[in-house]
Amino acid sequence: MPNEPLLTVQSLTVGYGGSTALDSVSISIYPEELLSVVGANGAGKTSLIRSIAGVVRPLDGEIRWRGVDIAGFPPWEICELGIAQVPEGRELFRNLSVEENLLIGGSLKRARARRSGNIQQVYGLFPRLLERRLQAAGTLSGGEQQMLAIGRAIMAEPELIMFDEPSIGLSPSLTRAMFDIVKMLHAKKTTILLVEQNVADSLSIGDRGYVLENGHVVLEGTGAALLTNKEVRRAYLGL
Ligand code: ATP
Repeated sequence: MPNEPLLTVQSLTVGYGGSTALDSVSISIYPEELLSVVGANGAGKTSLIRSIAGVVRPLDGEIRWRGVDIAGFPPWEICELGIAQVPEGRELFRNLSVEENLLIGGSLKRARARRSGNIQQVYGLFPRLLERRLQAAGTLSGGEQQMLAIGRAIMAEPELIMFDEPSIGLSPSLTRAMFDIVKMLHAKKTTILLVEQNVADSLSIGDRGYVLENGHVVLEGTGAALLTNKEVRRAYLGL
């Protein structure tokens, strides 16, 4: 790899009560990379994103952002550093309007001065959100809510966006649209961590990928190499 990693997760262990969700997991993400992390239900994908985002406190290990260990930092400080997430449950303010949700996403110090320009950019990307700017977020369709969660992340001008199963609950055509948005953000040089159960689509757009099983990294490689890996094909693609 030509550059230093933007983010390095080193020997990360996460547990809840007596159970271990991640057991000494190490991954790196390089600048402008689209990294796919795939795995079955319960493999630990969400725990990885939530610990990087500061929502879950790891039991052990390091999370280095540009070389600084940020493990245990509170979530708002992690957002201010330029790390945003599009969480699995979207986690919108359901009673607030589309526009209010976007304004909240843009209220971080790092992006506040450019909030009105950024909101126009989000509306340009998702005209559906502009049409519905005064509608309560909780009344949007699933696909529209996913657009809003992505728009809210973009409002923070992140360097790294972490997507937790963005295709979940979406129709095949909306799933394709979602992957197109991820590709478009990647083309604009945003670094992306994409967590998916949709292994084929995710690895086919990923520069590199990791396979998580029961809290362990069991395989890593380029997206193309993982897609042709015998184990991946057997276990995840039913081939
Ligand atoms: P999915 O694809 O089903 O969302 P995942 O790969 O994202 O799964 P995690 O959500 O990280 O996996 O869960 C990993 C393990 O940790 C699972 O066994 C899960 O039951 C457990 N776990 C996750 N969150 C909690 C919690 N708050 N309390 C107790 N156990 C939890």
